[in-house]
Amino acid sequence: MLCLAENKKIIMVGIPGVGKSTLLSKVVEIIKTHDKTVNVISFGTLMFDVAKENGLKDRDELRKLPVSEQQNLQKLAAEKIAAYTEQIIIIDTHTFINSSEGYYPGLPEHVLKIIKPTNFVSVSAKPEEIYNRRMADTTRNRDKITITNIKKELDAQSGILSACTVLTGSPVKLILNREGEIDKAAEKIVKAMGL
Ligand code: ATP
Ligand code: MG
Repeated sequence: MLCLAENKKIIMVGIPGVGKSTLLSKVVEIIKTHDKTVNVISFGTLMFDVAKENGLKDRDELRKLPVSEQQNLQKLAAEKIAAYTEQIIIIDTHTFINSSEGYYPGLPEHVLKIIKPTNFVSVSAKPEEIYNRRMADTTRNRDKITITNIKKELDAQSGILSACTVLTGSPVKLILNREGEIDKAAEKIVKAMGL
């Protein structure tokens, strides 16, 4: 039977500071050695690009917009993603966003239906390590940081992700991003892509 290689659309989730962007730069280096075309998209940056056209100035102001406005921006960003044609498309995003109305989903059903992901990768790390990574990163304007809140966020991530995999029927690979072991975690992610 002829088996055509299928394009992969991988959604990578993890709470802020867990190390998604750092891991993804390693993952891209590895994928390029496999002679595949790859595009990494930060869902937040794409939403911010759309929001900037409407006057928003600070990326960290995005999650403070009314939820209805954020939902509309999510839809516009998802439509842009659906149009990409690389062999491997990786979307760097969150299962939920901390808004004034509570956690709201980064990947609601209407967004998943537009993107049609083939795989999920869920990144986590020890709460203490996430805490330290957030505290050390002065480039971001983050919400109040406590270990208790980080544990709550990790719980919310796992619950919301279950819904995403059931809605799409796509598998999820759980990755623990251990301190100082970025390379190992990156290799596991690439393996999960079937490369
Ligand atoms: P956000 O959702 O806010 O974009 P993120 O998940 O992309 O966050 P990064 O910006 O990649 O997180 O990482 C946060 C910080 O943690 C960075 O300073 C990065 O260098 C550091 N870091 C990430 N992974 C590791 C690791 N395995 N060991 C040590 N430091 C790490
Ligand atoms: Mg990031």
